[in-house]
Amino acid sequence: MFQKILIANRGEIALRVLRACKELGIQTVVVHSTADADAMHVRLADESVCIGPPPSRDSYLNIHQIVAACEITGADAVHPGYGFLSENAKFADILAAHNITFIGPSGDHIRIMGDKIEAKRTAKRLGIPVVPGSDGAVTEEKEAKRIAAEIGYPVIIKASAGGGGRGMKVARSEADLVVALQTARSEAGAAFGDDAVYIEKYLEKPRHIEVQVFGDGAGRGVHFGERDCSLQRRHQKVWEEAPSPALNAEERAHIGGVCAKAIADLGYSGAGTIEFLYENGEFYFIEMNTRLQVEHPVTEAITGIDLVHEQIRVASGGGLSVRQEDIKFNGHAIECRINAEDPRTFTPSPGTITHFHTPGGLGIRVDSGVYSGYKIPPYYDSLIGKLIVHGRNRVECMMRLRRALDEFVVDGIKTTLPLFRDLVGNADIANGEYDIHWLEKYLAKED
Ligand code: ADP
Repeated sequence: MFQKILIANRGEIALRVLRACKELGIQTVVVHSTADADAMHVRLADESVCIGPPPSRDSYLNIHQIVAACEITGADAVHPGYGFLSENAKFADILAAHNITFIGPSGDHIRIMGDKIEAKRTAKRLGIPVVPGSDGAVTEEKEAKRIAAEIGYPVIIKASAGGGGRGMKVARSEADLVVALQTARSEAGAAFGDDAVYIEKYLEKPRHIEVQVFGDGAGRGVHFGERDCSLQRRHQKVWEEAPSPALNAEERAHIGGVCAKAIADLGYSGAGTIEFLYENGEFYFIEMNTRLQVEHPVTEAITGIDLVHEQIRVASGGGLSVRQEDIKFNGHAIECRINAEDPRTFTPSPGTITHFHTPGGLGIRVDSGVYSGYKIPPYYDSLIGKLIVHGRNRVECMMRLRRALDEFVVDGIKTTLPLFRDLVGNADIANGEYDIHWLEKYLAKED
């Protein structure tokens, strides 16, 4: 087991990882920018190292500073959290070259999944169902027209190097396609320094369903069921739940089994998420995230398994603590992402939190790094906390969520709490009847 883990992140996820380390009796080091000197994870860590000024590129993305912090403190492993360097293959390689364990998959696996064309090709080879589309990058207009005609309109053009929902264009006709191909390529080139784009069938009303997987790096793979993250705004997840209200046990076992086998065959190590669009009973792979995700607590709630403990165990060579047959799904869980944003316009609302009171009681978990008197810096993501609620079934979970949202108090700044108070009373949400466009349509109506 590791003696000392350096946590290369901030906010709620840094605290989340720190808690797991403390439980496992592992010493903790955190790194932070000058803007985060007062953060909760800095207060609670055994050691902390300031690695630079507020902008992420000078601190949380500064590989040299982070490696230097490992060497100064003698950390033998790094947990990257999510975002920042968590899917940076070069970072994983550099740590390996310094004999420091990256708590995550190999640099090569990160690289494959970070290139969306390569990821799709790999998924297909491993027997994962993919969205019909081009086999690789498309550059010629003629070829684009032929593929689009073959799979049928509408189609979507996506950047191979894309991420965060950027670099995508929908075309509903051949005339659209010509323009979309050109703009997608030039936008991808400008945004990602790589103008490779590919074509896929555009699904009109899918749900976003993702499977949590784990590999032990030695040919064993398991799945922890799925999460439904269809409630999104601008491709950003807002509300996540497990299990998906749309799947039955048979579909769950089937897609879970396909993913676990793929992970085993790939020789993958650590946590991963295989993301699908789901429409009319079919799954279509869109991408794989090679890290822990923001919404992992809903899976922890229904399985009772600490996924960060598992990540640390696997990375240290101790293997997974569970076999597939040990993973049982119990009840229902929902996560609300509480952002420091205006609940109508979603403009960021940094500033001082004058009062912070979290709900409690059976089935309630709040993961947050903020506290009364904390000043939210304007430089980073606006996520300030996650409310995760568990119940024996979806109805009980929703009852508990409504009560928990009423108890939650965040004063001094604007938050997205009022949005969740509206959603929890909505009939479509109560019935679990929503697709990936539902939230944007709902917000447009409310305006
Ligand atoms: P990113 O890496 O930028 O997040 P994804 O490939 O995961 O890109 O796609 C992000 C979102 O774009 C999906 O959650 C979905 O809303 C939409 N999307 C992607 N591909 C398709 C498709 N073939 N049909 C319909 N919507 C899609």
